[in-house]
Amino acid sequence: VIQIDEAYLVRALESLIKINSVNPGCDVNGPGEGEIARWITRELETLGWRARLVEFAPGRYNAIAERPGYGAGRSLMWNAHTDTVGGGAMVAPFHPRQVGGKLFGRGAIDMKASLAAMIAAAQAIAEQDVRLAGDLVVAAVADEEWGSAGTEALLREVKTDAAIVTEPTDLQICRAHRGYIHFRVETIGRAAHGSRYAEGIDANLHMGRVLWHLDYLEKELRAREPVPLVGVPSLHAAILRGGSEMSIYAARCELNIERRTTPGEDPRVVRQELTRILGPFSRRRS
Ligand SMILES: [Zn+2]
Repeated sequence: VIQIDEAYLVRALESLIKINSVNPGCDVNGPGEGEIARWITRELETLGWRARLVEFAPGRYNAIAERPGYGAGRSLMWNAHTDTVGGGAMVAPFHPRQVGGKLFGRGAIDMKASLAAMIAAAQAIAEQDVRLAGDLVVAAVADEEWGSAGTEALLREVKTDAAIVTEPTDLQICRAHRGYIHFRVETIGRAAHGSRYAEGIDANLHMGRVLWHLDYLEKELRAREPVPLVGVPSLHAAILRGGSEMSIYAARCELNIERRTTPGEDPRVVRQELTRILGPFSRRRS
């Protein structure tokens, strides 16, 4: 049985909350993950893990630590993200405080508590010299709250047989989930007074044709063979904006589509499904 040092766990969580790691994608003033990734790398190195800091994009860092297995067992990764969303209306987001047996601060649950749990487990494994047959990787990744660039970069250099993403799920085991891709479609018309039908080109009506085809695609997606645990892919026309005034032909119309993906779907194929629909329209000028 591995003993977790609870005092160390809480100290680690407090240290992590004190480091502002707001994702610059969520908040322009967010400093990113440099400082927190350095802290984690140093901490795991001190514990005797083989740790490294990886700057996968300018100013964006992952911390990766490994403990080689002693046998031919399968490898496992623990994965948690280091970034948080902005402080919002919080008075003191980076000052952890304990109230009624709970610890509060920006990112306390999502997901610095998970990071702290991983680090405390890594400490226990090192200090109690737990001998594992397979390699164990601790990955603290950047940018989950925005584009997931951290995990994408990580997977280009580290592959394991399995991974546990310690994202909080109220202690329920979540074995799979869908992803998403956002698309923006724009139709261009020509503004003209509402009486000038010979000059006006109606961008909204053009978007109507796109929507009509999207409706077919949406039904086609939902008729697909369900993927175990997650079901079928789906899409919805999330935001539609077009036109400016009653007596003016709409010069442009914008549609934001959210496409929910199932595990294994290739983003390029998903894009092609859409461009196949849009192709005939994108060449049309009237
Ligand atoms: Zn999260």
